[in-house]
Amino acid sequence: MNFIERLAQRRPILLDGATGTELARRGVDITGPLWSAQAIRAHPDRLGRVHADYVAAGAEVITANTFRTNARAAGPQAEALTAEAVAIARASGARWVAGSIAPIEDCYRPDLAPPDPVARTQHDRHARHLADAGVALLLIETMNTIREAKIAREAARLTGLPTLVSFVCRGDGTLLSGEPIEEAARAVADADAILVNCMEPASISDVLRRLRAATSRPIGAYGNILTSRTAPDLYARFAREWVGLGAAIVGGCCGTTPAHIKAVADELRAIGGSANVVA
Ligand SMILES: [Zn+2]
Repeated sequence: MNFIERLAQRRPILLDGATGTELARRGVDITGPLWSAQAIRAHPDRLGRVHADYVAAGAEVITANTFRTNARAAGPQAEALTAEAVAIARASGARWVAGSIAPIEDCYRPDLAPPDPVARTQHDRHARHLADAGVALLLIETMNTIREAKIAREAARLTGLPTLVSFVCRGDGTLLSGEPIEEAARAVADADAILVNCMEPASISDVLRRLRAATSRPIGAYGNILTSRTAPDLYARFAREWVGLGAAIVGGCCGTTPAHIKAVADELRAIGGSANVVA
């Protein structure tokens, strides 16, 4: 079964949880411009362990550690680092490996989004590196402006790979740029799914309702718990609520751990919508 066939099933798909903050929790230095990408060469073993722990927790999709392996961050090493990160993710035994495509600049600074030609060159190159490395799908995530999300989506389309597009929103349902989620959904209306991520879990349901009303595409969510310190069992109840609101894809963003993903997997199984069944 390919990812698109899986997405067409009624059972929700479980993504993994955080990679960057989980590496930091395990003592890996993720400071500096490369952020979590430093771990690809400094600690490939620990990075692989994080991925494998998410697979064991029940994640069907593992997102390769390519959030900061684009040329803007990684320079001439971009292609090699991207390939190494994808290889480490594929070795985890994941059913599907997604390539992460993040904003070229700081994901919380929409004002820094580069001009179109720069963004286009960067995203085209990164998407091609990911496709060449053998990812099964692309996850355009933490997008803070419609403009850059559209450019990244166009770059992803050139690869022919299934593509999910995820926006970081405020609790009022606007992107960090101030643009409403409805407009964002319309701008990437041909994506295979449209999600929100890196938001407070408690704010997600209201935005998901609006996203559900704005698009007929599959929707999904994965939350940031760095502020709320949401415990795994409570996080799993949020995820259950998101599934109840129509989310076809759930997972965890910053601060979430394999324990959170395991709790969500158990919750999905309890409602008869299991992800990967781990014996
Ligand atoms: Zn996040």
